[in-house]
Amino acid sequence: TNGHEKIDYVFKVVVIGDSAVGKTQILSRFTKNEFCFDSKSTIGVEFQTRTLTIQSKVIKAQIWDTAGQERYRAVTSAYYRGALGAMLVYDITKRQTFDHVARWVEELRSHADNSIVIMLIGNKADLADLRAVPTEHAVEFAEEQGLFFSETSALSGDNVDSAFIRLLEQIYGVV
Ligand code: GDP
Ligand code: MG
Repeated sequence: TNGHEKIDYVFKVVVIGDSAVGKTQILSRFTKNEFCFDSKSTIGVEFQTRTLTIQSKVIKAQIWDTAGQERYRAVTSAYYRGALGAMLVYDITKRQTFDHVARWVEELRSHADNSIVIMLIGNKADLADLRAVPTEHAVEFAEEQGLFFSETSALSGDNVDSAFIRLLEQIYGVV
């Protein structure tokens, strides 16, 4: 888009999950098509945007990143306010980050809107040799909890766009 187009919708999406799972890099891949090898931990920037056309509507995705507040319950309710979608990220090479997903779902259920669309993301899929979370476990958990699911690599870019687009399409379906 050229920036002069009429925007039909602005959809707020929050990215959550444990520290170091790749939230900031996923966001950077989706909004700038970049991966930053020497990134410091997130500082300050509240959100990034990308405008795209979904089902012939111009949708501006406003995607919020936690500024290093990933400790359980440290993310404030202001962060979730007005969010229509959530990317809940774990690292396929770190079992603990998957074990914490249930807590993040609980957090969303208590702080976010009831109709929030949640996409579970297993990131770092490029590190297949180090995999600690079988895909089937995540699929099963996602089905139980009514979440959408995808495995991504912010490094290679695999599935990042498609995961965001699926999320935005679902949000569009419910607004
Ligand atoms: P955050 O704390 O969840 O925001 O995590 P970051 O985006 O800062 O990433 C944490 C670390 O994981 C950094 O060293 C990234 O370079 C690395 N990383 C992020 N995404 C990927 C990925 O898809 N593949 C690999 N191999 N490394 C990744
Ligand atoms: Mg970060």
